[in-house]
Amino acid sequence: MKLLTILGATGSIGCSTLDIVARHPEQYSVYALAANRNVDKMLDLCREHNPRYAVMSDEASAAALAAALGGTGCEVLAGEAGLAEVAAAAEVDTVVAAIVGAAGLLPTLAAVRAGKRVLLANKESLVMAGALFMEEVRRHGAELMPVDSEHNAIFQCLPDGAIGRAAAALGVQRIILTGSGGPLRDIDLAEFERVTPEQACAHPNWDMGPKISVDSATMMNKGLEMIEACWLFAVDADDIEILLHRQSIVHSLVSYRDGSVIAQLGNPDMRTPIANALAWPERIDSGVEPLNLLQVSQLDFTLADETRYPCIALARQAWQRGGTCMAVLNAANEIAVERFLQGSIGFNDIASTIDEVMQRTECGPANDLQQILEADRAARRLAGAVIEARS
Ligand code: NAD
Ligand code: MG
Repeated sequence: MKLLTILGATGSIGCSTLDIVARHPEQYSVYALAANRNVDKMLDLCREHNPRYAVMSDEASAAALAAALGGTGCEVLAGEAGLAEVAAAAEVDTVVAAIVGAAGLLPTLAAVRAGKRVLLANKESLVMAGALFMEEVRRHGAELMPVDSEHNAIFQCLPDGAIGRAAAALGVQRIILTGSGGPLRDIDLAEFERVTPEQACAHPNWDMGPKISVDSATMMNKGLEMIEACWLFAVDADDIEILLHRQSIVHSLVSYRDGSVIAQLGNPDMRTPIANALAWPERIDSGVEPLNLLQVSQLDFTLADETRYPCIALARQAWQRGGTCMAVLNAANEIAVERFLQGSIGFNDIASTIDEVMQRTECGPANDLQQILEADRAARRLAGAVIEARS
C-alpha cells in the first residue's frame, strides 16, 4: 500500500489523480489533501477519500473545513507549515505536486528534501529554481517523476534513470516537444488584442485550470515546458525543437543519434501521465480510453511561429540569461495572467508586460532560495507597477 499526499487536490490534476487512486484502493491510499481556499470542494474530497490530514492555505478556510468535518478523525492544518508537514511526513511514499504557480515551490521542495517520489505537475517550481531543485533531488535521493504530458512522454522514450542525466550521454540528438497551439491557433493575429478570458480558457484538447489554460493560449506554457525539459533532461534549449501538433496525440518525441525517433502516443487525458508516474515501472489502469488511430487518422506537425507567440522567445531568452531570470519570467507571467483573467489587461499585454519586466530587471545568480524568492517578489512588484503605469 502506497500512502499519498496530494498538493493541489481540488484542481484539475489533483482530481485526475484522485480518480486513478479510487480505481486502485488496494494499492493507494490518501494520507493528506491540500488546497487553497475551496472549502466546499475540499469537504467533498475528504468525505470521499478519508485523508488523515487536510491542509488549507489560510487559517479561516482551515477553521471552516475543520468545523464542517467535525469528528471524522481528519486533522486540518493551515498555511505553508501545514503544507511542508504533509509533504515531508515519514509515512508518505509519494507526493503529487499539483499546486499552480510559485506557491508550489516550497512544499514541493519539502517533499524532495524528504526523499519522496515526487510527481511533478507544478512546472513553475522547476522553472523558478531548476538548478537548486535538481541539486536537491540528487542530494536527497528523491525520485522525480514528470507528470506534464510532454515530459512524461519524453521520460517514457528515454532509458531508465534518465532524469537529471545529460541526455547527450544517452545518445539523444534532440528532444521534440509538441504543443497543440492552444485555443487561439486558428484565430487571426489581428484579433488577439480582443481575446477574452473565456476564449483563452477554452482549450480544444485539454481540460485544465485557468492559469495553464491562458499559458496555453499565449504558448508561454510551451516556453515554461522548454525550460522544464532543460532541467529534467540536462539539455540546452537549442537541443529542443517545438512543433505544433493540433491533435495532441503524440505527446513528445526523442530523436537519437542513430536516426531512431521514439514517441509516446495516447489520447489527451492527464490520467495517462499521472498513472505512469504513480505506478512506474508498473502499468496500471487509468480509466483512459484506448487510442483509436483509425479514428484519429491524421497527425499534423508544423513549426511554432514565434512572432505569433512571443512568449516562447521570452522563455528562451530567460533560459539563456540564466540565474534568477527564469524566476523573473515566471513571476511576471503569473501577475500578467492573473490581471488578464480579472479583465484588467488585454491578451497582448501579457507578453509585453513580461518583456518589459525582463528588460528592466538585472538578473543575478540563483544559487539559493533567498535569491530566487527575492527575484520572484521584485518581479511581481515590477509587473504590477508596469501594468499600473500603462492603465
Ligand atoms: P488548477 O487551477 O485546476 O488547480 C490548482 C490547485 O492548486 C488547486 O487545488 C488550488 O486549490 C491549489 N492552490 C493554488 N494556490 C495554492 C496555495 N497558495 N496553497 C495551496 N494550494 C494552492 O490547476 P491545474 O490545471 O490542476 O494545474 C496545477 C499544476 O499542474 C500547474 O502547475 C500546471 O501548470 C500543471 N499542469 C497541469 C496540467 C493540466 O492538465 N491541468 C497539465 C500539465 C501541467
Ligand atoms: Mg504540458
